[in-house]
Amino acid sequence: MRKIRAILPGMPPTVSGLSAPVSAAQAAPLAGGSYWWTSGDPGPARVPARGHVEADVAIIGGGFTGLWAAVQLLQTDPSLRVVVLEADRVGWGASGRNGGFCEASLTHGLANGLLHFSEELDLLEAEGRRNLAELVAFVAADGIDAELEATGQLIVAAAPHEVDGLREWTEVAERFGGGVRFLDRDAVQAEVPSPRWLAGAISSPEHCVMVNPAKLAWGLATSAEKRGARVFEGSRVTGLRRRAGGVDVVVDGGAVDGGAVVRADQVLVATSAYSGWLRRLVPTFVPIYDYVLMTEPLTASQRASIGWAGRYGMSDSGNQFHYFRLSADNRILWGGYDAIYHPGSQVVPAHDQRAETFAVLERHFAEAFPQLDGVGFSHRWGGAIDTTTRFTVTFGDVLGGRVHYALGYTGLGVGASRWAAGILRDKVLRPDSELLRLRFVRSTPVPIPPEPLRTPAVELMRHAVMGADAAGGQRSLFLRAMDALGVGFDS
Ligand SMILES: Cc1cc2nc3c(=O)[nH]c(=O)nc-3n(C[C@H](O)[C@H](O)[C@H](O)COP(=O)(O)OP(=O)(O)OC[C@H]3O[C@@H](n4cnc5c(N)ncnc54)[C@H](O)[C@@H]3O)c2cc1C
Repeated sequence: MRKIRAILPGMPPTVSGLSAPVSAAQAAPLAGGSYWWTSGDPGPARVPARGHVEADVAIIGGGFTGLWAAVQLLQTDPSLRVVVLEADRVGWGASGRNGGFCEASLTHGLANGLLHFSEELDLLEAEGRRNLAELVAFVAADGIDAELEATGQLIVAAAPHEVDGLREWTEVAERFGGGVRFLDRDAVQAEVPSPRWLAGAISSPEHCVMVNPAKLAWGLATSAEKRGARVFEGSRVTGLRRRAGGVDVVVDGGAVDGGAVVRADQVLVATSAYSGWLRRLVPTFVPIYDYVLMTEPLTASQRASIGWAGRYGMSDSGNQFHYFRLSADNRILWGGYDAIYHPGSQVVPAHDQRAETFAVLERHFAEAFPQLDGVGFSHRWGGAIDTTTRFTVTFGDVLGGRVHYALGYTGLGVGASRWAAGILRDKVLRPDSELLRLRFVRSTPVPIPPEPLRTPAVELMRHAVMGADAAGGQRSLFLRAMDALGVGFDS
């Protein structure tokens, strides 16, 4: 999720490639305990890739990035042989566990966009709005039941210095097409009463819609298949081998070991925070765990006690922030605040649950919504976010330009992943695309050092960012130096 004031520093690291791959056996059907996985039917598991498979394009990862890439490749060239290889089930990763805030911003918010890409921001904002409008239209046209609600977003201030941040956001947004309105204390209390909120800023549905993310991922897999893609589940890629005229993608050890080899002309890597399997990507991102609670469905009187008639996606605006929203069956999803790095950049199912963070989130929920005293939590889960030092997706090519990747959304990838998938499609089918020339697409973020430096670097940044919240938003000398270097920490 993106913050308003957000130009925070951060510092992701990378590790020595230790991210453990996910296995179908470890994964259990609930994707870390995600409520979304219990809210519908993912359908029967698809068969794994076995033996020798031929493809024009092999896509590794069945989350939003990989699935949108499959759809867009086939929209552009329906004759392509497209194969998607997913280690577990489609939507098992961040795509089936997130808050469902589907934002237009490609740059992790305007403030971050201004910091890193000011000269391209007009175009990037327009692209982001175009992308969101097309996403909404596609979901409707393809009949995907993603519980999409065109609500916009309400961001609230819970500390005096955050009120200034919201005013600033409203003003800056005016320069980029508007659609954001400042709310004073009385106005925000009239929307969603809470002893915590001091002010708010509300954006239009052009900026943000809400989705059930697992249902969106499952629907996209069906959309890709309808257009001719072959989607394999339980198919973990363990290596890539360059060969004349293409790349061999090794699945589960390869064909002779009971797995598969996919002979592809080109390969797209869409494995997000799980990308430690490809060493080249390790310095690019740091996996940061983000955690979420889901309440039981609210009763009619509980629902009435919180207003929220507009059903906006909501967040507060500290450096450590919460995001919260209503589900279709009127539960409240409440997530964020802690951003946890596990030494060695570990990404393993054991980290999907974290009792300490859940306790903090429950306490903060009670402070925000005292009128909901007694409401229980039915689901608690977490997931890994692919954080980069500049908080935006980054692209690159490896193995002689036949393997292309996109990752690094830093917690704001539900909408941006569709746009990034379009860039991957352009790399394969439209090398003359103007978009490929954007600095946003060509440049790369400051890399993150390997362990043993990574853990202390992340912790230093994390504590500095927490310190800024405690100091009324004042950024320390260290944070300002990191800002100047374009290095940040966020989730
Ligand atoms: C708790 C949480 C809350 C979030 N909230 C929001 C939000 O509200 N709004 C927002 O915009 N963003 C949010 N995000 C971020 C957003 O979910 C991601 O940016 C987005 O889903 C990334 O999609 P992806 O397809 O790139 O990655 P993923 O969805 O993680 O997909 C990667 C897939 O690759 C598979 N895989 C991994 N390794 C291999 C391999 N070796 N072989 C084959 N397959 C492999 C995985 O199983 C996984 O399914 C949140 C993330 C988390 C974790």
